[in-house]
Amino acid sequence: MAGKSLQSIRGIHDGLPDEVRRFQRVEQAARKTFATYACSEVRLPILEPTELFVRSIGEETDIVSKEMYSFIDQGNDNICLRPEGTAGAVRAYLQGGLTRAGAQRWYYAGPMFRRERPQKGRLRQFQQIGVEWFGVSGPVEDAEVLAMAHAFLTELEISDLRLEVNSLGCKECRPGYRDRLVTYLDAKKEQLCETCNARIAKNPMRVLDCKVASCQVALRDAPEMVDHLCEACEFHFDGLKQGLAALAVPYVINARIVRGLDYYNRTAFEFVTDKLGAQGTVLAGGRYDGLVESLGGPATPAIGFAAGVERLSMLLDDKEERGIDVAVVALGADVLSYSLTQAAGLRAAGLSVVHCGGGAAKRQFKMADRESARFVAVIGGDEMESGKIALKNMANGEQQLLTLDEVVLLISI
Ligand code: ATP
Ligand code: MG
Repeated sequence: MAGKSLQSIRGIHDGLPDEVRRFQRVEQAARKTFATYACSEVRLPILEPTELFVRSIGEETDIVSKEMYSFIDQGNDNICLRPEGTAGAVRAYLQGGLTRAGAQRWYYAGPMFRRERPQKGRLRQFQQIGVEWFGVSGPVEDAEVLAMAHAFLTELEISDLRLEVNSLGCKECRPGYRDRLVTYLDAKKEQLCETCNARIAKNPMRVLDCKVASCQVALRDAPEMVDHLCEACEFHFDGLKQGLAALAVPYVINARIVRGLDYYNRTAFEFVTDKLGAQGTVLAGGRYDGLVESLGGPATPAIGFAAGVERLSMLLDDKEERGIDVAVVALGADVLSYSLTQAAGLRAAGLSVVHCGGGAAKRQFKMADRESARFVAVIGGDEMESGKIALKNMANGEQQLLTLDEVVLLISI
């Protein structure tokens, strides 16, 4: 008796083959691009002490106040499934004793967990590819990090992406700006949504990126951080803009960008598309010069970003090659061994091969079709005797009698 079948947790999806092929395209583009900027991969834990995120991300953020999957384990430790990668990267940087090892350029790929309301492009388990550069302070590095993100997205051939940049100021100039903003928001209280009203006291800058239309209207004349930067932040922001111009990376300034996490300063940026509705940010990041120190390390400037793999893969075109290179069809029991060695030879040359298992020819050809094989290697008594393969090109129906080496040559070009 079959019982009721079990379902995965809401907002937590299986990565089935067709989708994973797209994820791999995203990952390969990232690896290829990041390697050209001399970045190294790190593999960091999924479980971290809950305190790490409370201390770094900040208690008033959505992530810490309501989205973390945290629990007390059997040893009474408070554990969290990581909601993002930066805090763990900083912890690893400190724990690994790398603070005196010169600039570190890291990247990572893996799952993150946030208990959000599931919807298109918003999952409870999702994948990020993230980058963190430690020990780099200048606007030149900021421009390079943004250019690297741009190169990664260009490699994926995703069109209609917009780079938006902003400056969040620093601890010198942000408090003054924050006061101006609070004064402005206080006067607009009635037009702001309930969430924004609660944010005025706790995290007023978050009001700026509220998605509610009436809030956006109320914010039209809100003071902007970019108009209130101190001299050093202004210099940094100008340097970033010059760097982006030199590298021919197109961007627009969006004074509404605030990062959801508390630890960012100066440069903040997002790559946005209009194709995914409200979940249009595919890659986001910024500078976080104070975080390493606030987690107990020496003052260390740093900048990073994270890209949402599911959101990016939704934007990829459909050029996925699902098919295999060769399906091997063996006609008769006598040729079975020979056909197996031919399949092995093709695989040794790096081709993707499915052996159709011998038996009824009709079933084998049907199988080759199901696999979307580009070529079918038909092997009967004659082929075995001549030490060859009858290779059929499924795109045009042409058939040729070839040696294994000739098959490899033909398919590989
Ligand atoms: P959003 O404003 O969409 O909630 P965020 O500011 O919370 O994004 P970040 O913490 O900056 O997002 O994460 C970087 C990227 O990771 C996002 O731009 C997005 O592409 C992806 N991402 C974040 N949360 C989710 C989620 N719940 N499901 C899928 N992808 C996500
Ligand atoms: Mg979020």
